[in-house]
Amino acid sequence: MKRQKILGIKKSIALLAHDNKKNELIKWTCLNRDRLIYHRLIATETTGKLIEEQLQTKIKKVMSGPLGGDQQLGAMLSQGKIDIIIFFWDPMETQPHDSDVKALLRLCVVWNIPMACDTATADFIITSPLMTEQYIADHPTYKTYVNRNITK
Ligand code: PGA
Repeated sequence: MKRQKILGIKKSIALLAHDNKKNELIKWTCLNRDRLIYHRLIATETTGKLIEEQLQTKIKKVMSGPLGGDQQLGAMLSQGKIDIIIFFWDPMETQPHDSDVKALLRLCVVWNIPMACDTATADFIITSPLMTEQYIADHPTYKTYVNRNITK
């Protein structure tokens, strides 16, 4: 039987951006303020502080990305505590924590988590009717992988 994850009408949305992409994310959050504050927001520290200033609202924060924030978000989404990720990563510059960035992007796919890495995708996600409806997502079990590894 397939496992499922029920996303309520309020979603937990993680927001983070690399330095060269922070302005883009902040502008996007301002344009979508009313939609966003309906949900539970969480961000890496530096991004989160900027969002709080701009949106004039308190949000939950984890550590700064390079200090472990990406890994904290990865752990949270693996535990089912994050429903959506808006991650404007910088495609033009390497980061000291590139391995953490890659790990977070990978976990989104592992756990079937909607992820936007640019404004166009973020616009499609935030305006989706599913944002304010209950949604039942497939929650992969990876049993075939586990079994395959055991029989090897
Ligand atoms: P920051 O982290 O918001 O603390 O800058 C973002 C990141 O690099 O993942």
